[in-house]
Amino acid sequence: MVLRKINLRDSQSSGPDLLVAGAGPAGLACAIAAAAQGLRVEVVDGRTPPIDKACGEGLMPDTLAALALLGIDERQLQPMGFPLRGIGFIKRGTAIEGYFPQGSGLGVRRTALHQLLLERAQGLGVAFHWNTTVTSIGGDALDTNRGTMRARWIAGADGPQSRIRKLCGLDRGSASRRRVALRQHFAIAPWTDLVEVHWAKGAQAYVTPVSEAEVCFVFIGSQRFSSLEQPLALFPELRERLGPASASGTPMGAVTMSRKLRRVTSGSVALVGDASGSVDAITGEGLALCFRQALALATALKAGDLAHYERAHAEILRLPRFMSRAMLLMDRHPLALAQTFRSFERRPRLFSRLLHVHIGAEPMRVLGRSGLIASLLCMLTP
Ligand SMILES: Cc1cc2nc3c(=O)[nH]c(=O)nc-3n(C[C@H](O)[C@H](O)[C@H](O)COP(=O)(O)OP(=O)(O)OC[C@H]3O[C@@H](n4cnc5c(N)ncnc54)[C@H](O)[C@@H]3O)c2cc1C
Repeated sequence: MVLRKINLRDSQSSGPDLLVAGAGPAGLACAIAAAAQGLRVEVVDGRTPPIDKACGEGLMPDTLAALALLGIDERQLQPMGFPLRGIGFIKRGTAIEGYFPQGSGLGVRRTALHQLLLERAQGLGVAFHWNTTVTSIGGDALDTNRGTMRARWIAGADGPQSRIRKLCGLDRGSASRRRVALRQHFAIAPWTDLVEVHWAKGAQAYVTPVSEAEVCFVFIGSQRFSSLEQPLALFPELRERLGPASASGTPMGAVTMSRKLRRVTSGSVALVGDASGSVDAITGEGLALCFRQALALATALKAGDLAHYERAHAEILRLPRFMSRAMLLMDRHPLALAQTFRSFERRPRLFSRLLHVHIGAEPMRVLGRSGLIASLLCMLTP
């Protein structure tokens, strides 16, 4: 790949409309959406591509819809991934399946998605500064290890540990407890076209086929896993399924949590993606949030009104936060988990219905007030 080199002095004198800190999915989406609106955009990142990160690598249909709005359609994505028909919840001996209402999701390697987003941004004329780490921020200027850069607007897309969030005093808000994750790919042909979520006491394993010959495993629990053997011991059916299959690529750890901030903008700075708050990885909605926020931010920048983004951001996070809370309840309370499985077994369509609401294919009101309460009570009442 040819990296376009930009002289930092040039960018100081001309100054782009938008400077994006962080070239993860949120930063790239933000750059794409803003450049597509005609804004001049530059992006800095402390790393160099390909940028990998521990991720379940499952794109829900709503994530694919948001990607299409960014100019990346399914025809580009399909050849590099594995089509997914829905979600399976599995707990020793019991499997419940829910199907997407139309279209399908896609399992795709994180690095492949990153490359596609990067190419789209470069095609729109976005300039990139790699190995450029933000150290400080003041007004319209970002200090980096390679010099100071100025822009009319700054987007903080520097991930869950966002330095920009702290430096701008936007850290205040609420957060769920931290959970730790371990990702490992295996060279094995997929045995399912569902994202499987396996439940054990206080831990889950997410299994996402990402090609005809590879499956992505993510284990999440409250304690750090010291080796791959440790989480596999919690999920004997998965260990059996793997048989002699060998691990492909390197294992990668991560922390996940739900975080809600009081504000995501300050002056000419807006936070986007995990920097702006997150939902626990259990929802599989993190990337969809990044892409929707990026689209909303570009609209607000075009209108020169960050208050619009502040409102849109709160709305985008509302439903996934609700779903994340419900699922974390199942993680914390074995009784709630057992009862949820029992109620889904009794009412198989309920799981698909909730899945449709979860991915925004149907509004929450289709469950009706009584349906919603019934669903929650069903899940929680022993
Ligand atoms: C275990 C796990 C599984 C997940 N599974 C899924 C899933 O299956 N589906 C889904 O949709 N979502 C999933 N998610 C959520 C999704 O991965 C995140 O929402 C997404 O990665 C957030 O992207 P981001 O661009 O905001 O942050 P990041 O991906 O963290 O990118 C931040 C970027 O900023 C750069 N950066 C950081 N600090 C600086 C600095 N000071 N200066 C310059 N650059 C900096 C970093 O190098 C990085 O490139 C999962 C998350 C976890 C933890």
